Amino acid sequence: MANMTRAAVPSQSDADARCRFCNGHLVEFVDLGMSPLCESFLAREQLNAMEPFYPLIAHVCENCFLVQLEEYVAPVHIFTEYAYFSGFSNAWLDHARQYAEAMTKRLQLGASSLVIELGSNDGYLLQYFVQKEVKVLGIDPAANVAKAAETRGVPTLVQFFDADAGRRLAETGTQADLVIANNVLAQVPGLNSFVEGIRILLKPGGVCTIEVPHLLKTMAGNQFDQIYHEHFSYFSASTANRIVTRHGLRLFDVEELWTHGGSLRLHICHAQDERWPTQPSVSALLQKEDEAGLEKLETYGRFAEQVRSTKRNLLSFLIDTKSRQKSVVGYGAPGKGNTLLNYCGIRTDFLEYTVDRNPHKHGKYLPGTHIPIFAPERIAETKPDYVLILPWNLRDEIMHQLAYVRGWGGRIVVPIPELVVS
Ligand SMILES: [Zn+2]
Repeated sequence: MANMTRAAVPSQSDADARCRFCNGHLVEFVDLGMSPLCESFLAREQLNAMEPFYPLIAHVCENCFLVQLEEYVAPVHIFTEYAYFSGFSNAWLDHARQYAEAMTKRLQLGASSLVIELGSNDGYLLQYFVQKEVKVLGIDPAANVAKAAETRGVPTLVQFFDADAGRRLAETGTQADLVIANNVLAQVPGLNSFVEGIRILLKPGGVCTIEVPHLLKTMAGNQFDQIYHEHFSYFSASTANRIVTRHGLRLFDVEELWTHGGSLRLHICHAQDERWPTQPSVSALLQKEDEAGLEKLETYGRFAEQVRSTKRNLLSFLIDTKSRQKSVVGYGAPGKGNTLLNYCGIRTDFLEYTVDRNPHKHGKYLPGTHIPIFAPERIAETKPDYVLILPWNLRDEIMHQLAYVRGWGGRIVVPIPELVVS
């Protein structure tokens, strides 16, 4: 959740925008209408004010198949007061801890090693390296979350990262054995400069891991709510491979993760580095994507109709349910929920309220739809007939937490990949 108290200023929008990686020609991928910034939760006193909405239209490059949004809103207006504190999901923290374990072992990191994380947030991940007495440095443009990281013993530079920032660090002798770029590459409009910066920051023999939502899963699973203004680019392994290759790096291993509805963890090294031979996982995944049609433009043309169909199904369910005088509330207030609700036009007429475990969101309202956010206890107090899970990617954990709604005959609804009422 971001405290977007001031109006965001749109960046220059160009009707003839070109691919941010290869300058190729763009064609429409999906049009999700007009939407506010999905993390700009509103305080009560903001409800009567004007609210900025921006086009949410994704394009795909005819040349390299990078799916992308124009830079409708400049990052400086999104991320410098970004108050997304990541440390609230148990499953997420487990994921971070396991990663730190695995990489410390694989790279044999010790007290003389340095781990740098780009987009280090509140230090939730680097804290696990600190516990192992490995030196760390966080880089994040949001001063408020950087402060939270410092209290965890994670030194943090408050700045955006790009090639110049990488060069400044390298010139003063700061290079990393491990560079981490988790769920940040999508948020970078200057993609080429960012990846060039990674190459400069990486020691010889060093490894960079990049986690991104996997476009293959986004498309196969109708996960159109992964698309929002904060995410400028959407990657397949094939496009990511093209990008790192152009910058003198090499994709030598890749893992498929469950996070964000299906993500990739890309392991990257210097192109000529013999320490890291390319694993069979890379060609296997590139082949899988090729077989799924990701290297053909017409495959991308089919996504928009899948999205419209998902919208119709959710609205049919809600119209039918409300016609039967049943109550429906939400669970969770994630960014992705706001893309879904705004695209489908779901307001308090369909969804009375939502709840979230993050206390920073309580008493606020969802952007655009103005659905109020309460603490989770509200569900037990009001005993709704249906609970719609908005962070469907965490549905297993949440369905477990919500088991008690069965006590009054309540049912749980998951909207994506397809509507399931259970
Ligand atoms: Zn391109």
